[in-house]
Amino acid sequence: MVRNARMLSDTEYVRVALALAAEAAGEGDVPIGAVLVVGERTFYARNEKERRPDPTAHAEILAIRQAAATLGRWRLSGAALFVTKEPCAMCAGAIVAARIARVVYGCRDPKGGAAGSVIDVFASEAVNHRPAVTSGVLEEETAAQLRAFFQSRRAGAEAKDRPGTAS
Ligand code: ZN
Repeated sequence: MVRNARMLSDTEYVRVALALAAEAAGEGDVPIGAVLVVGERTFYARNEKERRPDPTAHAEILAIRQAAATLGRWRLSGAALFVTKEPCAMCAGAIVAARIARVVYGCRDPKGGAAGSVIDVFASEAVNHRPAVTSGVLEEETAAQLRAFFQSRRAGAEAKDRPGTAS
């Protein structure tokens, strides 16, 4: 097998996803970024739920759609998906549907994680494909990025709620 000379490590890919996530935060979206590697091709996406607005515009979904449209096939066998946060149920379903081989994520999502934290879609008997999962890559950084976003959003909401504040 010929290895791609530019192949990065798991940590390096998640670091790229972190940078994409930071762009999402800049546009008012929850900072989540994803990098999808399919053979020689790499696809980049970030959460765009608020920007579009589209409830399905999660980083993972956008990366998968972009890859399938570009490559002209829905089956992304052998692909590896790097994402800053544990996928939700919708994204885990899409990962299964696309037959993605590997999922690498940063922090867990204790409220909605569907790769083991709340439910484990990949272990369900309802799915016919189980990707290999690696968790906790750059766990501290990815968790801190989300925390900072929600803290600043709360601070903004409190300022707006304060009576007599001009807006
Ligand atoms: Zn999702």
